[in-house]
Parts: sequence; structure tokens; C-alpha cells
Amino acid sequence: MTQRASTAPCALPGTPLANARSGIDACVHCGFCLQACPTYLTLDDENDSPRGRILLMKAALEGTIPLESETLTTHIDRCLGCRACETACPAGVPYGHLLEATRATMLAGRPLPFVARMVLAVFARKPLLALLMFGGRITRATGLASLLGRLPGRLGFAMAMLASTRRPAAGGRRASADRQTATSEQVVLLTGCVMEGLLTETNRATERVLARNGFVVDGDAAGQGCCGALHAHAGDRATAQRLARCNIEAFERANPDFICVNAAGCGSMMKEYPALFDDDAEWRTRATAVAARVRDVSELLVHAGPAPAGPLTIRATYDAPCHLIHAQRIASPPLVVLRSIQGLDLVPLDGTEHCCGAAGIYNLVEPEVSADVLAPKLRAIADTGAAVVATGNPGCMMQIGAGLLRAGSATRVRHPVELLDEAYAKGADVSFPA
Ligand code: SF4
Ligand code: SF4
Repeated sequence: MTQRASTAPCALPGTPLANARSGIDACVHCGFCLQACPTYLTLDDENDSPRGRILLMKAALEGTIPLESETLTTHIDRCLGCRACETACPAGVPYGHLLEATRATMLAGRPLPFVARMVLAVFARKPLLALLMFGGRITRATGLASLLGRLPGRLGFAMAMLASTRRPAAGGRRASADRQTATSEQVVLLTGCVMEGLLTETNRATERVLARNGFVVDGDAAGQGCCGALHAHAGDRATAQRLARCNIEAFERANPDFICVNAAGCGSMMKEYPALFDDDAEWRTRATAVAARVRDVSELLVHAGPAPAGPLTIRATYDAPCHLIHAQRIASPPLVVLRSIQGLDLVPLDGTEHCCGAAGIYNLVEPEVSADVLAPKLRAIADTGAAVVATGNPGCMMQIGAGLLRAGSATRVRHPVELLDEAYAKGADVSFPA
């Protein structure tokens, strides 16, 4: 489709939103995206749909409504950034890019809510983040997170999220390349912030299953850190750029064949690093080279096989993280990974492609809408009768995990590679902590 340049006036020249104008103009207002949008389905307001939000962006750009308008800020804030609308859109509207550009433009005249500022400040500083994660592990180990997770409100939900990251000890098994048909391709893991801080054992399981499938996983990318996704999604482009530069430099030094990411949101961010550097040719080139090596762990495992595992006799279902299925368009590889586990009774999950309501820090800043979006997901999971929900993103794991804990469900959440790792290690039934 050929887009004609808009001739409408621009009230915000030089802003990220003005630079994203061609994306706004690409919308033909067909409404195909509406039924894919969780906030539209939950709130039943056109302004909380992709089409409505794009019209609000256009109105702000043309000066019809001010940037501080409550109508604009309320409905842009309520967007999950799940990008289900991109998958549904026949016109190729780059909605995720438009949302980040709008939030970046709004940020110049309006500070983020206090909770969001605190979380983003901590995630941008390694010592503070390490302290937070250490405190989280202590709170979890003492059982306090499980106890406080029963409280109503934001604190209770946050504690249940933390409690849901508890894992059985794996006995410190290390990665080792014990498969005959080694690929000999070197892989370095993006260890991440929440993944390494709270889901450490999932990272180790990722390394083990990669090694089991012939990858060389003995290196690290010294200096790597938070990918910057939370900051980019909130419109804090400067911090997202700073964090991206650190990771680009770290992975350039490590120089692996592939950068493995086991967190869908982080993988999506790293694959889109070049878009952060529109106005910087040198960094854009470097970002493009690094982004080209980024793979979700499921892509790598499918590339190598994966080697069959099991038997693991358990009923499981799969929930597709938005930033895997919509942002990265990776749908079948996680299912291939799960189907490689003999004995696994993999049952479909109704609405697997719908957002769970986690969306980065959305569940902290918009707790009511987040809970309303989560509710049908929990009902669908209960209908499957599955003992385990597999999903490949820490935000989704903690959101669904917290919802299940607070509902008194015995179903637990695991990353697909954790199940594969268990199947390789035990070849038998696996038990999960209550
Ligand atoms: S589907 Fe695409 S073109 Fe149609 S209204 Fe939604 S964003 Fe616009
Ligand atoms: S990103 Fe998700 S919540 Fe936001 S408009 Fe698109 S479908 Fe709706």
C-alpha cells in the first residue's frame, strides 16, 4: 500500500510523535483490530481501542487536543502495549512504535506516576537492582512473600508475584554439551534483570537445554544488564538508549554466534534496538548487527532439533507471551519444544494469544484493568485442567503465577525450557512446590 504524506498541520514538530507520523497515517480506520484488543474488550470504550488511540495521537499531533489532555493521557496510559493490534492489522500499522513515540512525547510535559518512576529508576541502576533482587529472594525464602501474597491490593499481588517465582532446587547441575550432534555454534545468554535476580534456576535450565542440544554455552557478556524495555515502553527513550548501548558493547565484546533470550519482552526489545537510534547512524549500525544475532531460546532449540526428552507425564498448557507471538511473531517454536517432551499431555489454551495483563509495570500502575484482563485468562487455564502453564516471559510467569496462587489453584507456571530441562534430567514425573 502506498502512503501519501499527510498535509495536515503539525503542532508538535521535532517530537518522536511527529517522526512517527507515517505510521499514524497508515491507519485506514477499518476496526479489524478492535476484537483483538484486551482493553477494548474489557472496558468497552472506543478510546481504549487501537483505532481510538491512534485518532487521539493524530489529534494531539495536529493540535486539536493538548498533550496534557486527560482524555489523551488516560487512554494512552491504559494501553497494555501488547501489540495484538499489530497482528490483526491488515494495513501494517506499527502500533508499538506509535505508542512508544506518543509516551515519549507526553513525557516531556508530564512526569510518570510515582510508582513507575521508582521502578524505572531502580531498573536503570545495577546496584539498586541487585539490592532489590536480593531483598526479593530473602522475602521469598522466609515465606513472607507467600504470607503477604494473601493480602488484598497492590502489595498483596506484588508479593504473590514474588512467591510465584519459587522453584525446586535443581542440585546445581551445570550446562554440558553431551549430545552427539553438536551444532558447535556459540551462544551467550542475556541473563536479564528479573530472570537472573528471581528466576536464576530458569536461566541455568536454559543453559543446560542449549548445551544438551549441542550449543556451546560457556561464555558470558561482561557488562550486560537490563535490556531497557520497561523504559522504552514508558517513553523514557534516553534511559532505554543508555541501557541498549551497554548491552550492544557487551555483546560486541563477547561476539557469539547467537544471543539467546529466554524473556520474550527482552528479546523483542533487543531485536528492535536499531529503532532506538533513528538519529544516530553509528549506533544504529552497531545495534543492527547485534539485533541480527538475537534469538528467542525456542528459536534456537527448534534450529537444533530439539533432542527428544521425557517421559514427563503431566498435563500442561501453553500461554503465548504477547512479545513473542505479536511483537516477534514467534508462535510455533515453543509448542515444538513442548511437543518434544514425550508423555506431556499438551492441551490448547483458549485465548492463548490474549494478553494476561502483566505488560511490564502495567499491573503496578493500572492494577484494576490489569486484574480485569487477567480474569478470563485464569478461567481459561482452569478449564484446561492443566497442572502446569508454560510461558516464556517473566512478567507473564509472575502475573499468571500470582493470579493462580491468589485463586487457590494448584496449577503452577513454568518456562517451557524448565519443563524440557526436567524431562532431560529426570525422565519421570516432576513435583512442584505448593
Ligand atoms: S486494523 Fe490497523 S488500519 Fe484498521 S483500525 Fe486497526 S490499526 Fe487502523
Ligand atoms: S497494544 Fe494491546 S492494549 Fe494497546 S491498543 Fe494494541 S491491542 Fe489494545
